[in-house]
Amino acid sequence: MEGTVRLSLAEADRLVHAALTAHGISEDQARAITDTVVITERDGCPSHGMFRVPGYILSALRGRTTLDAVPVVHDLAPGVLRVDAANGYSPLALKVGRAPLVEKARRQGIAALGIVNAYHFAALWPEVEALAAEGLVAFAFVNGQADVAPPGGIKPLFGTDPMAFAWPRREGPPVVFDQSSAARSRGDIMLHERDGKPIPLGVAIDKHGKPTTDPTAGLAGAQLPFGGYKGGNIGLMVELLTGALIGGLFSYESSGVQPEEWGPSIGSEFMIAIDPARCGAGSAEAVWDHGEALFVQVLDQEGTRLPGQRRAAARATSEAEGIEIPKLLHDRIAALARGDTALEEQA
Ligand code: NDP
Repeated sequence: MEGTVRLSLAEADRLVHAALTAHGISEDQARAITDTVVITERDGCPSHGMFRVPGYILSALRGRTTLDAVPVVHDLAPGVLRVDAANGYSPLALKVGRAPLVEKARRQGIAALGIVNAYHFAALWPEVEALAAEGLVAFAFVNGQADVAPPGGIKPLFGTDPMAFAWPRREGPPVVFDQSSAARSRGDIMLHERDGKPIPLGVAIDKHGKPTTDPTAGLAGAQLPFGGYKGGNIGLMVELLTGALIGGLFSYESSGVQPEEWGPSIGSEFMIAIDPARCGAGSAEAVWDHGEALFVQVLDQEGTRLPGQRRAAARATSEAEGIEIPKLLHDRIAALARGDTALEEQA
């Protein structure tokens, strides 16, 4: 591909880590962010991969986040944990909360984790996939800034509010879906804007409430939920779980605190982990085997695939051949790694 740079995963890791630490982000925070960014790029999800690095750094340069934040874990109940990210980035808060969440889920059969005061700027699937690697069924929900109009409305109120689900398997990668409750993630619309491409109808409306295919008009107006009121209801649920239930902020409250639209926004996350061995099927193996029977039925129909399969294929390719990113993005991150501080607002 023209205008691209190919990097090994180790080179990508070094580049991202150098850029983050060059701007004062602590080693622990930078390591956790780098792992998330590189994993995401590796698995073929560029909208939440290296594309996000300038945004992380802008949030550091502008003093939005606490660069050396140390997340604090609170044990609230036998099955409930809360991590206060202390105004830092989500990846480290997740890393710190994961082991106690796994331990509680194994002990109790089910456990929940709330993360508050965190700057989330990533995809959710690495988070649930890490729990699936422990043999747990997992859910994750994240809110953000007010970008999506409620069904029938025209003003942004909900975040793009993704939810992810992971189901471990006896062999191979887990079945994982991770999807925004908006028709498209905001990062995807931003990539369309960057590349001068139109967005499909039904993804966004302009600020007057008119359907638009112009990504810039859509970003200035309101995004739409996927599937009309059904996606809107999932957004409502994500807002309630991440905002009210765990003492976080709703997306519109986050936008009130932080109206500027660049970089990661303050928000909260809710996760649930379930031990399949404790849910009545007898053993985890019995659960997996029954699950496989469903997957066989799905894949038996032509034209189907399981969620997560595209990413797993992208992962295998990246591990063998490295990753390819736009040269402009590469040069920008390389400049940041050399200490450059010139960043555009839409990072
Ligand atoms: P997509 O619409 O690209 O994909 C949604 C899910 O559907 C994926 O898990 C995908 O699996 C699966 N899928 C796609 N096609 C099929 C198919 N034919 N059959 C079965 N499953 C399929 O996701 P979104 O655009 O909604 O979201 C993209 C990312 O943006 C997510 O990772 C999300 O976490 C992130 N996001 C983050 C936010 C934040 O605040 N941090 C906010 C909003 C979104 P596969 O991966 O295998 O293609």
